[in-house]
Amino acid sequence: MTQPKNPTDLWEQHPDTRLVTAGRDPRFLNGFVNTPVVHGSTVLYPTADDIRNDRGEFQYGREGTPTTKALSDAIAALEGPACAGVALLPSGLAAISTALLAVLKSGDHLLVSDSAYRPTRRFCDGMLARYGVTTTYYDPLIGADIAKLFKPNTRAVLVEAPGSQSFEMPDTPAIAHAAHERGAVVLNDNTWATPLFFRSLDKGVDISIHAATKYIGGHSDIMFGAVSANAGCWPALAEATLVLGQCAGPDDVFLALRGLRTLSVRLDRHQQSALQIARWLERRPEVLRVLHPALPTDPGHAIWKRDFTGASGLFSVILKPAPEQAVDAFLDALTLFGMGYSWGGYESLVIPFDCANYRTATTWSPGGPALRFHIGLEDVEDLKADLVRGFDALKRVR
Ligand SMILES: *Cc1c(COP(=O)(O)O)cnc(C)c1O
Repeated sequence: MTQPKNPTDLWEQHPDTRLVTAGRDPRFLNGFVNTPVVHGSTVLYPTADDIRNDRGEFQYGREGTPTTKALSDAIAALEGPACAGVALLPSGLAAISTALLAVLKSGDHLLVSDSAYRPTRRFCDGMLARYGVTTTYYDPLIGADIAKLFKPNTRAVLVEAPGSQSFEMPDTPAIAHAAHERGAVVLNDNTWATPLFFRSLDKGVDISIHAATKYIGGHSDIMFGAVSANAGCWPALAEATLVLGQCAGPDDVFLALRGLRTLSVRLDRHQQSALQIARWLERRPEVLRVLHPALPTDPGHAIWKRDFTGASGLFSVILKPAPEQAVDAFLDALTLFGMGYSWGGYESLVIPFDCANYRTATTWSPGGPALRFHIGLEDVEDLKADLVRGFDALKRVR
């Protein structure tokens, strides 16, 4: 088995095949299937002439190793031919902040979705503001009307598809079209779908951001980020990653690559189980609404169907009004759903959430308590039985 000889061969492969083949070439690994973990700072040059002319594929550990190259190549193969390069970062949040710093400068204006991951807001309102970048938040459902929010100095638009916790599905191509007409670049936090279910670089996005901590790692054992860029944005992204001294730890790079190999089979199962449970929850008397773009009842369904090839295992539920003690009794009665932040691992999770106190462009009044579920790889019937235990406890308190 060898790497495809030219890019055309690569793009003829199904994404599932690319996930397995890309970024490895056992001919150069003495036959071993996997690229080893290279722990390294110094790279030795064979001759004075080589070091004077910076010759060789690798120059210094921080700037890349055979392990990081294998992972970058594999992610690039998943993104598609529009991807010019992939930067690897020590967390998803580092991926977001590095990508924003790469494209913005003092005096610029930035548009950010009101449903963006909350720590993204903190970075924009805090550090970016201090460096002279102003941020305006927009309604994630704004679509082409985002044109009205552009100022002469608007340099970038950040999309999150779908929104964190609340799952509004933006019209990314319409937003990207408006941005490009005005010379702005488009960044997308693609953590929910991964490049397997949303090839955002083909939908007008210039920079695609992944918290690889979630599905790419897939086992709740690493913090990791990756940023893919098209040819227009890759030089700025590569430079920002370099000058900020960003480099991910070699063991985490290895685990991210190991997780990536099974991404398709895991996501398929997350998708099927989450849809089954979401449909079942829709029919529960305690539930007001399920926020999941792959459900035909969801307001974002048409856009999801047009732009995405799948849905992952994360969605939210609005319960009918119930006192906080009843919701807490529901949560405390669950034994298979752990309560904790992050998601994308093999295990099921749930958290209560409330977006009301930080949104600025939209109001959040869902009509009842909100819970976000991550559906793991457990058996669906076991998960439903666990949720029934939770609902029984909720009813006892109410
Ligand atoms: C978790 C998450 C991040 C941040 O990733 P970390 O690896 O935890 O820093 C960014 N965006 C989204 C949508 C996330 O869910």
